[in-house]
Amino acid sequence: MKKVLSFDVDQTLNVAKTPITNEVADLLLECLNHFEVCPISGQKFDQFMIQIVNRLPNPTPEQLSHLHLFVAQGTQYYRFNTTTNEWEQVYNYPLTEDQVAKITATIEQSARELGFWEEDKLAPGDEIIENRESQVTFSALGQEAGTEAKYAWDPDHQKRDQIAARCKELAPEFEFEVAGTTSINAVTPGMNKSFGMTHLLEELHVEKSDILYFGDMTQPGGNDYPVVSMGIETITVRNHEDTAFALKGILGIL
Ligand SMILES: [Mg+2]
Repeated sequence: MKKVLSFDVDQTLNVAKTPITNEVADLLLECLNHFEVCPISGQKFDQFMIQIVNRLPNPTPEQLSHLHLFVAQGTQYYRFNTTTNEWEQVYNYPLTEDQVAKITATIEQSARELGFWEEDKLAPGDEIIENRESQVTFSALGQEAGTEAKYAWDPDHQKRDQIAARCKELAPEFEFEVAGTTSINAVTPGMNKSFGMTHLLEELHVEKSDILYFGDMTQPGGNDYPVVSMGIETITVRNHEDTAFALKGILGIL
């Protein structure tokens, strides 16, 4: 039997950047009684709390000790300390200040050149480029734009493919990965989900064959593909409803 259930977050556990539903929350809580549960996503720690952890209905410290947060594609790892009852960071592989500065300038230049730098659409205080420590993320409409506006901005990836291609010309030493609905994640080569999964194997002392992974972008070029290409067993889902359906099946036969 699998020991670890690992999940992409956006579009796998939730509607991109929104909290998980009650149904998914109930299912994940039940999973914590039987499996190590490892969400992995390009987002920041705060978003893992808002979207997943704070949605779990009355989890016990024992249950939370089986939840492992692989933040920023697993370049940061947090676990619940049952002695202090707090989340603790186990490791972090941040970019250097110079790397952040170069990536930030590159993305802004590329987006401006192509006419996709839409500062006027931001909410007050919001930002297009966010330093997530281990990666720098471009979000075309900022962090606070509504879901509908985000889905409408670049449904076929065309804008972001152009920005990413221009960034790659300007700064070939970095990777620019199209993700979510309006985002591009910039990282150093290899800092993708395979980095996170490799560390997951070490930290949880498990084998690849112990893991079942769920993701919506498992096609070559998608941000879940690095996991597939490691040879980890994967279920491709279209949305969180598919994930919930699969989890009911898994929990039903335990
Ligand atoms: Mg996804």
